Amino acid sequence: MRFLTFSSDQQHWPGLVIDDRRLLNLKLAFAMAARSGSGGSARPAPNDLLEVIAGGDEMLTACRDLLSIAREGGLPAAVVAVNAVSIVAPIPRPLKNVFCVGSNYRAHVSEANRAQAKADVAPKLPVFFTKPPTAVIGPGDSVLLEKSVSDKMDYEVELGIVIGKAGRNIRAEDALDHIFGFTIINDVTARDLQRAHGGQYLKGKGLDTTCPMGPQIVTIDELGNGDNLRIRSSVNGEIRQDDTTENMIFSIPVLLESLSEGLTLEPGDLLATGTPSGVGYAMEPPCYLQDGDVVSCEIEGIGELSNVIRETALSAAVS
Ligand code: MG
Repeated sequence: MRFLTFSSDQQHWPGLVIDDRRLLNLKLAFAMAARSGSGGSARPAPNDLLEVIAGGDEMLTACRDLLSIAREGGLPAAVVAVNAVSIVAPIPRPLKNVFCVGSNYRAHVSEANRAQAKADVAPKLPVFFTKPPTAVIGPGDSVLLEKSVSDKMDYEVELGIVIGKAGRNIRAEDALDHIFGFTIINDVTARDLQRAHGGQYLKGKGLDTTCPMGPQIVTIDELGNGDNLRIRSSVNGEIRQDDTTENMIFSIPVLLESLSEGLTLEPGDLLATGTPSGVGYAMEPPCYLQDGDVVSCEIEGIGELSNVIRETALSAAVS
């Protein structure tokens, strides 16, 4: 199944993709089914995808039943046309920071080491960092470029894992059981801030609007294990990154085993799994994002996530 969040009537709604043209409003569908006593009636209507994800296998079964009913022409009042609504980030406000992995594709590690005149050594353990929930934006939203904050903004297409089942000290062989599905994340990065603050990641990775996400979450039973998907990015139509997820240094199961050592992962948690080679700062000469640039991130089986860079003057202090 393909889950997404859409905006309509100034509200966010949890949705399921029926086909290329139609979505099922899950909140309405559950409510209608409860009234009629048909599929999904045993559960309260989910308000958002976090509640869908937290609902576990029973919720997935109920969603599958409602999708079947809608595909057979049922629940017409809960069916909306894709072009009548706005698709937003599938999880517009994650419950905690978005977990990320740096340096997880060998060719990207090499280009990064070359650009920084470092010895070409790959990490021996995954390099973890996070992006705050306030960084998340959806498909079509603008990435703000405040040049007095950073004038070296860069893109990084990444496969995003959505955790379905909580776990701590998860073993690699069990890791796939904890995955709800996959989405696309663009780990937009302020390279100057990444370098300026002692080589840490948070400041350079945490600015508002630097976590575009979407357009949908494809469940693991539909997409597969995520271990051999073509992953690409382009800027204004020019391909910049083009690789497959099988070239990750640390595989998805190994990443989840390592991240969950002594650290509880919960339903709805997100993990961006690293970016392939071809980022702007490693180009010769380096090429950073500019006002009006369109960055498109594409992963096989999930779709395309596009965002425009918008230069703004430094905003006034906001409280
Ligand atoms: Mg990254």
